Amino acid sequence: MRSTIGDLDILVAARDSKPVMEAFTNLSGVVRVLDKGETKSSIEFGDGVRAQVWVHPPEKFGTALQYATGSKDHNVQLRQLALDKGLSLSEHSFERTNGKGEILCATEEEVYQTLGLPWIPPELREDRGEVQAARQNKLPRLIEVKDIKADLQVHSNWSDGKLTMLEMAKAAAKRGIQVIAFTDHSVSLGVTGGLSMEAHKKQAAEIRKTQDKLGDSILILHASEVEIKADGTLDYPDKFLASLDLVLASLHTSLRQPREKVTQRVLNAIRNPYVDIIGHPTGRLIPDREGADLDMDAIFKAAAETGVALEINAHPARLDLDDTYARRAKEMGIPISINTDSHSEADLDMLFYGVAIARRAWLTKEDVINCWSTKKLLDWLKKRG
Ligand SMILES: [Zn+2]
Repeated sequence: MRSTIGDLDILVAARDSKPVMEAFTNLSGVVRVLDKGETKSSIEFGDGVRAQVWVHPPEKFGTALQYATGSKDHNVQLRQLALDKGLSLSEHSFERTNGKGEILCATEEEVYQTLGLPWIPPELREDRGEVQAARQNKLPRLIEVKDIKADLQVHSNWSDGKLTMLEMAKAAAKRGIQVIAFTDHSVSLGVTGGLSMEAHKKQAAEIRKTQDKLGDSILILHASEVEIKADGTLDYPDKFLASLDLVLASLHTSLRQPREKVTQRVLNAIRNPYVDIIGHPTGRLIPDREGADLDMDAIFKAAAETGVALEINAHPARLDLDDTYARRAKEMGIPISINTDSHSEADLDMLFYGVAIARRAWLTKEDVINCWSTKKLLDWLKKRG
């Protein structure tokens, strides 16, 4: 669940590896078989991505999966713990260092149990304090997709989304979402069909009609993804922002300004009393564009002071905030919002990736405003203005 990966390693538990290797090397899309053996085969797809399959006997699958999952630094810690117990841990087994045989593990749970630890979720295995937390039985109860009740950045065909608000709301409700905020783009982002204040009046009327059709299956919030302009001002006057249910402010333009200037723009947005969420805070696009050169210390400090939420944008090209920033935000008590930034129905399923980043950041459902009850969320929004 890292933001990016290199190649793919797939592990299979089987006694007879032959049919597995046959199926794997004959997958459609494979342009080259680099290696075909009894325990390992290796292929290349047309787009250059490489994948390996490893076949292990079922009784050794736990150590093999744990070893392959890593990370290297996490595994170094486990091997040390094993040595303290007179065991040598490898991908095949725990071998007793006194020469009296080995312990086989069919599951990862057995691996950790042998070390006297609870199972550690893979997202935490980065040597960032997880082994110590596990020893003290203080692992966080990580957030899950089913905990998310609200999607607070969604686009409709009022700006650059593909579907109507009714279609989008129905698709979200089908996925268990109870609150949806339409954050169509603001006026200066012309390429996306950004909305004028006049157009917002019409959208508000359309929202009322749409809400009537939806009944209480899902609640629509009238929101906007407001552009933080190059001069640091927002795209609408405060009086208008105050009339919206939710304001999400984002950078899309002039991201390469000098550090001080671009940081100041985000700080202005954080300090605006009507802004509720900062969308995709750094503006990075994977793999093409680094985020803006922001002074994140200043941004976290201001966010902690004002109580504005920072987004984990779930789009695989964004994943912004990333895991290390999101963890810092949590430690500073800053609310986090995980949103899909959907422009189509299929985009709604990208929520999974945002939650994955949150899990890597040790987040629980208490840290994320999208998990709150509708009442708590609305009260929070009201209090913010
Ligand atoms: Zn955006």
